[in-house]
Amino acid sequence: LLRLLGPLQGLSNVRIDVMTALVSFERVFEVLDLPSMIDEHPDAVELSHVAGRVEFEHVAFRYPRADEVSLASLETVARAESRDTGLVLKDVTFTAEPGQMVALVGPSGAGKTTMTHLVARLYDVTAGAVRVDGHDVREVTLQSLEDAVGYVTQDAHMFHDTIRANLQYARPGATDEEIWDSLDAAQIGVLVRSLPDGLDTVVGDRGYRLSGGERQRLAIARLLLKAPSIVVLDEATAHLDSESEVAVQRALDRALVGRTSLVIAHRLSTVRNADLILVVDDGRVVQSGTHASLLSDGGLYAALYETQFAVRSA
Ligand code: ATP
Repeated sequence: LLRLLGPLQGLSNVRIDVMTALVSFERVFEVLDLPSMIDEHPDAVELSHVAGRVEFEHVAFRYPRADEVSLASLETVARAESRDTGLVLKDVTFTAEPGQMVALVGPSGAGKTTMTHLVARLYDVTAGAVRVDGHDVREVTLQSLEDAVGYVTQDAHMFHDTIRANLQYARPGATDEEIWDSLDAAQIGVLVRSLPDGLDTVVGDRGYRLSGGERQRLAIARLLLKAPSIVVLDEATAHLDSESEVAVQRALDRALVGRTSLVIAHRLSTVRNADLILVVDDGRVVQSGTHASLLSDGGLYAALYETQFAVRSA
C-alpha cells in the first residue's frame, strides 16, 4: 500500500476515483493493494547516476480487471496477443534521449496518461518493455526507480500538514535552506515568506487554502527537491489567472532543464519546444516528429493543432 500511496501523492486523486468507481465498495481495498503485484525482481539492480533515457519497445498494456489483480503479474505476451480487447496501449515504441522533452498529444482516452504510468512502473506492461537507461524497469529496484521519476500533475495533492513536511516528503531530511531554495526556484518563495507561519503553515484540505497555481508551484518545489532525472508532467488545462500561469511556466522551465521530460501537452509553447512530439491515438503512436515537421505532414497532428493549440496563447 505504501508503494501505491507514494506515486499517488504526486498524482491526482483522480486515480483513486477511477479505481473506486470501477469496483464495488467491498473490493476497494483489494484494488488499493493492486501495486503489490509490482514485485521487486530478486536480482534487481540499483539505478544510479540516471542519465534519463526512456525507451518504450513495442509496449502493449491493458489495465488488470479487479478480479484478476492477483493474476496480473502472470500476464504474458501470448495472452496479450490472443486478447486484443481491452488493450489501452497496443504497440508503442519510442525513445526519449537524456534531457529531451517529449510531448504527448492526442484525443482524450488515447492512452497518454497510461504511457506515463508505465515509466515509473505503476503497472507492468502486458507485452514489450519499458526501459530507463537501458534497464527494463522490471529489473531495477523499486526505490531507485521511484527516485528517478518525478510526477507533476494538474491536481497536485498536498497533505494536511505544514509546507515543510509536504516538501520533506520529496526528500526526507531536507534542510530549511534547501527547502527555501526549491521554493524560490519554483517561484513560490515570496508567497511562503509572506505567511505568518512561513514553512510551518499548514496547507491541505483544512489548512491554508492554496490557489491552483500556488499548489502547482509547491508541487514543482517538491519536484526540485526530489531532483529526479525523469519528469512526467501533465500540463494544466484548467484556467489559471495569467500572473499565476506565467509563474508556473517559469517554474516549470526551470524544473525541466537537464531532465528528460514526458509532457502531456496542452500548451502551444510546449509542442513548439518539444524535441519530439508523439501523436497518440487509440493506443498507438500514429505520428511523431517536431512541431514543424508534423504540421507539414498534415494528418491528426494538424487537426489537433487547429482544435487544441492554435487558439490558445503560447
Ligand atoms: P485524457 O487526455 O482524457 O486524459 P489519455 O490519452 O490520457 O486521455 P488514458 O487516461 O491513458 O488516456 O486512458 C486510456 C484508456 O484507458 C481510456 O479508455 C481509459 O478509460 C482507460 N483507463 C484509464 N485508467 C484506467 C484504469 N485505472 N482502469 C481501467 N481503465 C483505465
